Amino acid sequence: MILIVDDTPENLISLQKVLEKNNFEVDTASSGREALTKVLKTSYVLIILDVQMPDMDGFEVAEAISGYSKAKETAIIFLSAASIESKFISKGYLSGGLDYITKPVDINILLLKVKTFYRIYEQNRKLKEMQTKLLEEIEFRKIAERKKDEFISIASHELKTPLTSVKGYVQLLNRSAQKGDTSMVGEHLGKVQVQIEKLSSLIADLLDVSKIEGGKLKFQKQYFSVEGLLNNVIEVIQHSDPEVQIIKNNQVNCQIYADEMRIEQVIINFLTNAIKYSPGTQKIQLNVNIENEKLHLSVIDHGIGMLPEQQQHVFDKFYRVEESSQRFQGLGIGLYICAEIIRRHGGDIGVKSEYGKGSEFYFFLPVSLQNKAEPS
Ligand code: ADP
Repeated sequence: MILIVDDTPENLISLQKVLEKNNFEVDTASSGREALTKVLKTSYVLIILDVQMPDMDGFEVAEAISGYSKAKETAIIFLSAASIESKFISKGYLSGGLDYITKPVDINILLLKVKTFYRIYEQNRKLKEMQTKLLEEIEFRKIAERKKDEFISIASHELKTPLTSVKGYVQLLNRSAQKGDTSMVGEHLGKVQVQIEKLSSLIADLLDVSKIEGGKLKFQKQYFSVEGLLNNVIEVIQHSDPEVQIIKNNQVNCQIYADEMRIEQVIINFLTNAIKYSPGTQKIQLNVNIENEKLHLSVIDHGIGMLPEQQQHVFDKFYRVEESSQRFQGLGIGLYICAEIIRRHGGDIGVKSEYGKGSEFYFFLPVSLQNKAEPS
């Protein structure tokens, strides 16, 4: 918007008309003081300022405006009876730009100058916009880089832990074998196997993340029985955590068209998280039913729960709730992989949780996906 400042009403009106005819938005002030009040409230692209005014002349107004933050980008065109001494212009008015036109005003020249200032203003605005975007991008990349570094250090630690156990058990195994103690050999072998399972599942998760990143996570879909899958999953979990009771509510006798191994991976992830983040609780609830042609599955625990802002990020890559990350081992990628699997099956995934009370992780999957295109 342009502000015209002139104490002669006829000048104001005629200039306003010409500028508005050329599609410029115009505001007017009939004194220096009124102009200052307006500049305090509004950011103008340009001020056309009459030099000779009573009370406060145009130069004084310009001087005062140069201190206003709202006028940092504002250019000024002085309207003066005589050519302005270069002294004032070189005095260093720090704002957008300075120029002058002698009276009587040649409208064509004025319009040319106004358009030039507008163009410069527009270019500056775009440059600033680009600069802001670049700075945001740099910040975003810095954060991503930091997260990756943190992740590498956590991942190395997580991989090292089972590996160190394997080393220890192999030494024990060696000793027991030398002594011919077959029962101890069996026991140690079992422990080695558990640690190797852990290692291989960690590595599988890491590979999944890299597949997702590269757009290479593929699904092998076929019809399978939900009930059969759930029974298997519960058996696997009960085998590794016999002290935890998984209470399955309801039964769904339906077949769904999906990648069975991947859906199993999601349910196992929900259940192992529910157990991991509920120290001391012995019951985990598994709800399943069909709603509006969708399979709805949820896992409810009465564990540590999460705050609302933490819930917003649980499906983000590498996210771990900071305050519990020291207490519980993990890589912060399990739920990210789950979200990718469910969304790529055309489903929805989510969490409801209350800090200190527990969490419910759930997904909805279309019961028959066979004819639906897989979202990319
Ligand atoms: P992690 O290997 O860290 O468990 P996940 O991707 O499975 O990675 O989970 C991300 C984070 O979400 C976890 O680090 C934890 O802070 C939080 N979280 C996941 N499941 C639960 C749960 N059942 N209760 C409370 N917090 C959970």
